[in-house]
This record gives sequence, C-alpha cells and structure tokens, in this order.
Amino acid sequence: MTESGYFDNAATTLLYDAVLQEMLEVSKNYPANPSAVHYPGLKAKEKLEELRSDFASFLKIKPETLYFTSGATESISIVISSFLNSLKKGKIIISEIEHEAVSSWISTLKDAGFEITRLKANKGLINTGDLEKLIDKDVRLICIQIVNNVIGSIQPIKEMVSITREKEKEFGRKIFFFSDAVQALCKIPFSLTELDVDGASFSAHKIKGPKGIGALYLKNPINVLAKAGGQEKGIRGGTENLASISGFNKALKLYSAENRDKINNINSKLRAFFEEKGFFILSPLTASPYILTLSTKLPSEVLTRMLSDEGFYISSGSACSNNAKGKAEKIIQAMGFPPSVQSGTIRISFSPCTDEKEALQLANLIYQKTKDF
Ligand code: PLP
Repeated sequence: MTESGYFDNAATTLLYDAVLQEMLEVSKNYPANPSAVHYPGLKAKEKLEELRSDFASFLKIKPETLYFTSGATESISIVISSFLNSLKKGKIIISEIEHEAVSSWISTLKDAGFEITRLKANKGLINTGDLEKLIDKDVRLICIQIVNNVIGSIQPIKEMVSITREKEKEFGRKIFFFSDAVQALCKIPFSLTELDVDGASFSAHKIKGPKGIGALYLKNPINVLAKAGGQEKGIRGGTENLASISGFNKALKLYSAENRDKINNINSKLRAFFEEKGFFILSPLTASPYILTLSTKLPSEVLTRMLSDEGFYISSGSACSNNAKGKAEKIIQAMGFPPSVQSGTIRISFSPCTDEKEALQLANLIYQKTKDF
C-alpha cells in the first residue's frame, strides 16, 4: 500500500522505508537480550542507551526520564495504575475528551475509591479557569491531552500546569500532571520541560514509525503497580524491543525534519474549500494542522465507504479503537456540538507525505457525494 488516497494518519501512519531499513539492520546487528551479561548482550544494552540518549536529546529531556513501552496505551496505564498503589485515595481530574486509553480507567479508579471529576472542553477547548475551580486539596492526578485525536484541538497545557503548581504550593502536596502527547509529537511545537508536566505519553505509529512501540516521559520515577522483570529501571518490565525503538528514533528525526508549512497550507486550502461550500467544520482554527474534522449531511460510515470505493481513506471516527465511530460521537457530544453534526462527522488527517492535489481531489469528491442530501 502507498500513501496515495490515504487520509487517516491520525489513526495510524505508513512506515517510512528508511525506518524499516533501520529496524532490519538493528535486528540483525543487535539480536541479543540487553539484560544479558555476555558480549552481544552488552552491545545490545549499549545500543539501547545510545538510542535513549539520542531520543531524549531530541525532546530536550534527560535520558533517565525517558522509558520505552509497547505504545501510548501502556505508557498511560503505567502512570494511571500507579495511583492504585496509594493508600489514601483522593480526586482525579480527567478531561471529557481524553482518548479511551485514559478514559477507560475511570471505572477502575472509581472502584478503587477515587473520586473522578470530568473537565469540560467546550468545542474541544478547555478553559483554564474551569480547571482552577476544580483543583482542591484532595486532587492527586490531572490528565489532559495536548492535542485531541478527534478534532485536533490544542490545550493550553503550560497555563494549566502553572495553575496546578500554584495550587500545590497552597495545599502543600504534590499533584501529578499527566499529558497524553500522542497527537502532538512532531506535529506541533512543544517542550516537555517548558510545559513542566510530570508525565507524558508518545506513540511511534502516529509519526510513520512502527506499531507496538511507545515512550513514557516521567519527570521523576514513580512507584509502578507491575514491576515485572525490572527493565527500564523497573518502570516497564519486559525484554526491550530494540529494533522498534531504533525505528521510533529514526521516525522521530525524519518526521521532525519534514516541512510543516506544507501541511498548514494543505489544511488551510481544504478548510477554505469546505467553508465556501457551507460545511460545518469542527476543528478550531487553532487546531493541529494534521487534523481537519467536518460534518456532512451523510452518515459518516456511509460516506467513508463511498470514498473508500474511490480509493480515498478517511475516518468516520477516531479509528484507533473498536467501534471508533460510536466513541468519536461521544467525544463530539461531550464537546457540545449540536446533535445535527454528530453522526455525519468525518476526520481527514494528513502526513508529511500528503499530496496537495490529491487532498483537493478528496475535498471535491466529498462535496460531490454529499451535495444532494
Ligand atoms: N492517545 C491518543 C490521543 C491517540 O490518538 C492514540 C491512538 O491510538 C493513543 C493514545 C493510543 O496509542 P497506541 O496505539 O500507541 O497505544
């Protein structure tokens, strides 16, 4: 499969050829278990730490704050499940528009005795004042993503963390601020140290890296629930996936070097086209340029199939999970969009390899297919 017609890059991306090549080489050259004490094991360990340092310096963080995992879902689980360890339960604030990897924890946390408060995100945007009002002396954890996967809205994380730090001083206790950064990595500029978050999750397959590999940033180590084999300094047990880590590191560099103006330009042209034709656009003007979400008069799964028949692949939901459409609709509902736009919402998402001419063809096709309804 090629990039041609592929506009579902927020669900997953197509691997860079150079990433695959890198993975092959690392698989062949470093086959041993990095925990083994023999020579090939030591070489694998050396390579692992070299990759960690390289990756960390790209994110401008210390290597010891970066842990490799099997994906963002696992990174998120490591952080959230660690709270199950705490003797004194308290409150947890979770935005209403988090990915399921975060929100699916709510029932478990409630069962464990935590009080969960959902933070509103009207039209996909969180108001910092709303967060400020919710933080009291019992809050232990706050989970707010940087970029939303359904409409691409970007949250003012820096301001929200700084409010949290003020509250910490006032109450004299630590509040862990976690940000899911999956849809932000390489797509919008941000610095983890400037944001001052305590933890953040990343995934390789959203930036043309391999599937099944992710990363976790932790400003300070945490007391995880499952210690397992003790790899990754006890934060994530299990034999390290060196080939995929090298693929992730390569993708990070290749994707970061891409021309973001190109995607900004394609997004603006499509937005202008859809606006001119009277479509309802859900993605705010300030959203990530990699996601453009709009509503049409046709049920989204019908249009998605029609477009697929013509060789264009978009999403009728945040299709990185089962029943993606239903889940995306819930998020869109939580954002307060009118019911009339909910079932017809489609997501077009770009990659650096998106072709402008093809994107405009897709926009025109959407118009042609939906104009008589
Ligand atoms: N968080 C967001 C915002 C996502 O878009 C995804 C995508 O599926 C995930 C988390 C889960 O990532 P992974 O597939 O690496 O577990």
